[in-house]
Amino acid sequence: MNGNVTDLARDIARCGRCGKCRSVCPVFRELLDEPMVARGKVQLYKAVLKGHLEYTEHYRRIISHCLLCRQCESHCPNGVPTASLVLAAREQAVEKLSLPLIKKNVLQHFLTSSGRLNLVAKGLAFYQKSGLQGLLRKTKLLRGDLQEKEALLPTIAPLPLRSALPRQIMPTGEPRMKVGYFTGCMSNHVFTDTGKNVVALLRAAGCEVIIPRQCCCGLPALAGGDRGSFMAMARKNLAGFLPTGIDALVVDCASCGSAWKYDYAAAGLKPPFPVYDISEFLTTQANFRAGGLKTPARVTYHDPCHLIRYQGITAQPRELLQGVAGLELVEMSDAGYCCGASGSFQLEHRKIARSIGQKKGEAIVAAGAGVIATGCPSCRLQIQRVLGEIGSTARVVHPADLLAESMLQG
Ligand code: SF4
Ligand code: SF4
Repeated sequence: MNGNVTDLARDIARCGRCGKCRSVCPVFRELLDEPMVARGKVQLYKAVLKGHLEYTEHYRRIISHCLLCRQCESHCPNGVPTASLVLAAREQAVEKLSLPLIKKNVLQHFLTSSGRLNLVAKGLAFYQKSGLQGLLRKTKLLRGDLQEKEALLPTIAPLPLRSALPRQIMPTGEPRMKVGYFTGCMSNHVFTDTGKNVVALLRAAGCEVIIPRQCCCGLPALAGGDRGSFMAMARKNLAGFLPTGIDALVVDCASCGSAWKYDYAAAGLKPPFPVYDISEFLTTQANFRAGGLKTPARVTYHDPCHLIRYQGITAQPRELLQGVAGLELVEMSDAGYCCGASGSFQLEHRKIARSIGQKKGEAIVAAGAGVIATGCPSCRLQIQRVLGEIGSTARVVHPADLLAESMLQG
């Protein structure tokens, strides 16, 4: 377990039960139920640790109702690290109750192996492209829970990004730096164009780009309480990048970046090279100059929780977008408010995730933007979905997509 019992007891004791977290917790706002807010979860965990409450499936379900968004933490006067406490509580619950079978298989057999995940992705891409998906949806064989989960499946790329690109890519000009690119599962299997755009931006910034063997960052396992799988994935990724001699690692997913920067280090696996989100890299490490858009665009930016509250990154993507000629950046209200996606949360708690997402969708529509940029693929999918439901035709992209487009247009 990450964090010893004394540290956990100290963190729990910090909660003065003031209830300030109630005003900002997206889950509490939906359910208005005390165990769902930081204060309630902290007190529940305390009772379990003291042996006053049993580990039960009901308890596990309560602690699964957390987006790990850290909005409670940024409003907590006593600095209670709720997200870390929830992770520790989930981990202990897995030790006592073990993992549900499907989750166990996904985490331990597919996310730990890029080869096995490639096979699954290939099967899913075939299912979508061959017309099987449309056929199955028409037959109404899929019902209830399965139907709702299937509807959340993103479009899978026919060829993974890492299979389409060479392991070593040279810069367009004089080499300045050798960087590793951690693609994450989403740029590898879903948003492959974004991955290609990230590589193009790095090359234009004078970087030799290295893309060695890698697997999922491990955050889904950590968030699910499976520390063993998280450690296995972290070790695999480090083993892939360590021999490459890179000067820095670049990541284009908010959650993967947060795992590499903080969770690996907290687990005693600190990488020996600096890790940057792409927006951070381009603003601080590279002499990057954007071009202009062919068609002027009004763009709004959504701050992913894993960038704004985990990595403190909020100015950098805006600075880059503002540097694009023909791009007007407009702010939506509360751009840092969680969109409700949070990885598997949107699968486990679909109604709550959808309702939180609708509020984000309304804020986006009110901003009057035709394009929404965000640096997290999970947020991107959630925002695409809610905008589709509202009937909005706005485009949802990664900031790197707009920057690459501006370079093409010059
Ligand atoms: S804001 Fe912090 S101290 Fe106050 S109840 Fe919530 S977790 Fe406890
Ligand atoms: S991390 Fe987010 S969802 Fe979890 S208790 Fe805090 S505010 Fe609520």
